[in-house]
Amino acid sequence: MINLVGGRISGYRHTPVPIIVPPTREALFIDTSKFNDYMRFLRFFFEKDMTGYGFTPREKQIELAEEIFAALNDRSVFLGEAAVGTGKTLAYLLPSVLIRRGRINEGKFGVRLPDGHQMPVVIATASIALQKALITDYIPLLSKILMERKIIKKPLTAALRKGKSHYVCDRRFNAFMKTANMPTRTAAAALRNRNIVDLSELKELTPYIKRGINVDEHCNRDCTQYGYCRYTRFLQSVNKGGYDFQVINHNLFLADIMLRAHNGKPLIPDYQAVVIDEAHKFIDASRDMYCSRLTLDEISNAARDIGSFTLAPGQKTFELRRLAKRVDSKSRLLFQFLNQAVPDDEIGNDEVERYTTKISGRADKLLRDLKKDVDVLVDVMPGIAVTSKFKERHKRVTRTVTDIDDTLSAFMRHRDLVYWLENTEIPVLDTPAGVRAPALGILQGMPKNLGSLLYKDLWAKEFPMILISGTLSAAGSFEHIQKKTGLDMVPAKRLVETSKPSPFDYRKNVMLYVSEDIPFPDNTDPAYIDAVTSETERLIGAANGHTAVLFTSYKAMELVHERVKEHDLPFPIFRLDRGGTAALDQFKKSGNGVLFASGQLWEGIDIPGDILSMLIIVRLPFAVPDPLSNWEKTMYTDIDEYIEKVIVPEMLVKLRQGFGRLIRSEWDSGVVAILDCRAGKRGSYRKEVLAAFPPCLITSSIKMVSKFFRKVKSAVYFT
Ligand code: SF4
Repeated sequence: MINLVGGRISGYRHTPVPIIVPPTREALFIDTSKFNDYMRFLRFFFEKDMTGYGFTPREKQIELAEEIFAALNDRSVFLGEAAVGTGKTLAYLLPSVLIRRGRINEGKFGVRLPDGHQMPVVIATASIALQKALITDYIPLLSKILMERKIIKKPLTAALRKGKSHYVCDRRFNAFMKTANMPTRTAAAALRNRNIVDLSELKELTPYIKRGINVDEHCNRDCTQYGYCRYTRFLQSVNKGGYDFQVINHNLFLADIMLRAHNGKPLIPDYQAVVIDEAHKFIDASRDMYCSRLTLDEISNAARDIGSFTLAPGQKTFELRRLAKRVDSKSRLLFQFLNQAVPDDEIGNDEVERYTTKISGRADKLLRDLKKDVDVLVDVMPGIAVTSKFKERHKRVTRTVTDIDDTLSAFMRHRDLVYWLENTEIPVLDTPAGVRAPALGILQGMPKNLGSLLYKDLWAKEFPMILISGTLSAAGSFEHIQKKTGLDMVPAKRLVETSKPSPFDYRKNVMLYVSEDIPFPDNTDPAYIDAVTSETERLIGAANGHTAVLFTSYKAMELVHERVKEHDLPFPIFRLDRGGTAALDQFKKSGNGVLFASGQLWEGIDIPGDILSMLIIVRLPFAVPDPLSNWEKTMYTDIDEYIEKVIVPEMLVKLRQGFGRLIRSEWDSGVVAILDCRAGKRGSYRKEVLAAFPPCLITSSIKMVSKFFRKVKSAVYFT
C-alpha cells in the first residue's frame, strides 16, 4: 500500500511515490519531503479527488489551501477572510492533516509522539454548531476520502471539548436524583444507563435538568470523585495526545494559553498549530477571558453558605457569621453605589448592555473596605472545622472566597482597567434590611492593554496560527482587527493576509435595495417607526413572505412587529426575542414566514434555501457606545479619525455578516433591503456601504424588487 501521510511509508523520502490509486487510476508522484510537492498534492486533491465525491473544484479554495499550507510551514500568523462558498473549512483541514500526519516539518516544529504521530492541530471555534459540523461532517468526510484514496492508513481522529457546563457532573447528578420527581428522574436516568457524559446527546433533558446536573464552577481537585467521575474520565481520554485534531472553543483555547503563560497546568495537550475559525468573534472571547469579574450574587451566596455552617465544638461560630454578613453587606453597598452612579442616559436604553462605571473616590474606598474583610475570610476559612455534613461545601466556599479575593486584588493592582457593570441573569435579591439589591450585579474590568497581552501570550509564540472567517476586513483592510487584537505587533514578515471572494454569482442572484423614503433613524419618532413599518410590509409583499427583518434594537423590533401584526399580513409572523430559538425553528419550517429578529441573527445562523429570500436591514449596525468604545475613543485625538478607523469598519463588518445570512449556497437568490437613509443616495455612508457588498443589482424601487423575484424564483415560490 502506498501511503503519503500516515504511518510508515515504503520507498519513502527522496523516491517519488504514486499516491493516488484506483478508482481514478490517475497518480500523482510526489516526494514527501518537498514543500512544492505537497503544494502539487493539494491542487491535485481538490481538482481530481474531490470531484469524485460531488465537489466542484473552486480555484479560490485551492489558493486558500495552498496559502494556509505555506503559512503552517513557515510558522506564520495567517489572517484569512474567505467569503461564503469558498470552502474554507476543507481549505484549512487538508493542510492541517498534511502537517499533522506528514513529514514536511519533521524536526522543524512539533514533537513526534510515541505512536509516530506529530502533535495535534487545535481548531478553535466560536459556535457549537461549527464544532458539531467539524466532528460529524467535515473531518469524517475528509477522512473517508483520504482513506479511500489510500492516502492515509488510519482514519482521522478528533477530540471535541465543549465548555464544562455541557457535561454531566456525577456529584450533582446524584444529589439531583435524590430530590427530583419521577418524570424528571426517568428522563435523567438515561444518562447513567447509557453512560452519557455530553448532555446534548440526550434530547429529553430540559434546561432545568441540565442546570441541575451539569459541571459547574465548583468542580476541582478537592472533589472526592475527581479522576473517577464520568467528566474527569472523559477529560483524561480527550487529553491523550493521539488525536489529529482537538476541536475546542475560543474561550477554552484562551484559558489554556493564559495558563501556559503563567506556568500553569495546560488544559489541552501540546499542539503544533492552531486554526482559529470564526475569528471575527475572537476579540469578544479575548475580552471575556482577560476580564476580571466580580459578581454580587456569588458573594452573597458564599456569605449565606458560611452563615449556614454548623461548626465543630470550640469554633467561633458567632464571629464567623458576623464576618460573612459584613462581607455581604459591604459588597451590596459597593454595588448600590456603582448602580446609582450609572449615567442617566444609559438607564432604560435597551441597546445598552454594558453600563459605564469607575472605581475611584468613594467606590475605591468601598472596594478597599470590602477587600479587608474578604482578606480576613481568606485567612480564616481553611482553618475552620465544620461538621461532616458541611465538609464539601466548606471546601467549595473556601475556593470561592479566594477567587473573590483574587478579583478584588486584580481590581486594586491594575489601575489600567476599563470598568463596566452588567445585568445579573438572576432575579434581584432582597437584602436583610429589605432593600432591593442592585440589578446591575456584575462588575467587570478589562485590561486596557489587551492587545499587548494577546501578543505576549499568543502571537509571539513560535507555532503557526491560522485565523479565518467569512468577514474580517473592512473597506479591504485588516487594520481594524489587527489593532484590536495586538496582531499589529506581529512582525510584517510573519503576518500573512488574504481575502477570497465568494464564487457565487451575486450579479445574477442578488439585488440590493436601498430605501430613499425613510427619515433619519430615531426609535422615539413615531413617523420613523411608521415609515419603517410601511416599507417593511411592502417589501414583505414583494418577496411573498420569506423575509427576515433585522434590527439593531429590541425596542424598535417590538414596535414595528406590533404594527405589522395588527395589519394581518397573509404570512406567518415570528419574533425572535433575546435568548430564544423557538421562533427561528418555526420560521424555518413555515415555508414563507416572516421573522423579526435582532442580536443573534446578525451572524452564525444558517438559513439556506428559499425560506430566507428577503433580508431587511432596518438600520446600519453601528455599535452602541459603551464603556469599551468610550475608552477606545480616548486613544484618538481626532473624532473623525476614530469614526473612520473604528466605528465605520465595525459597522461594515457587521453589515457583511448580516448580508451573509441571505446567500448560503450557489442556488440561493434574494434581496437585501437597507432602510437607513445614511445608505441612500444623499447618505453619508453610501459609498462605504455599497463597497461592502459584492457587485450586484442595486435599486431603490420596490417594483424592481417584485420584478426581480419573478425572474429568479420559480412559480412554486409564489404559491
Ligand atoms: S470532579 Fe467535578 S465533575 Fe466530577 S463529580 Fe466532582 S465536581 Fe463533578
